[in-house]
Amino acid sequence: MDLDEPVNCAACGYDLTGVGWEGHCPECGRFYDKASGRGVARGAGVLSPVERGDRVIMLAKLGAYGALALGCLVWGGIASLSSPMPARPLILGMIGGGAFGFAVYATWFIDRRDGP
Ligand SMILES: [Zn+2]
Repeated sequence: MDLDEPVNCAACGYDLTGVGWEGHCPECGRFYDKASGRGVARGAGVLSPVERGDRVIMLAKLGAYGALALGCLVWGGIASLSSPMPARPLILGMIGGGAFGFAVYATWFIDRRDGP
């Protein structure tokens, strides 16, 4: 692995980029070894378990809203085929799909702005 790759102490998140391949974290003194990956967290930033959980919840919400939006559109399309008034389910489906589609956008936008 590249020595310049962003590496953080797994214990305290201290930026270990540019320090030796192995040793003790200057911040908390915990042993780390970049070669084996012991005691280090890779990536540009270290996510705490809470942040990681938030991201999972956000993705789950996006998936659920997206599925509902798609479900509304599909339902509208299918219902319009068998309905005596095809425009009505089609419009309802588009309104529902649009509402959930907007929820996806809003969730993504808000979480993105508050995120790291
Ligand atoms: Zn540390």
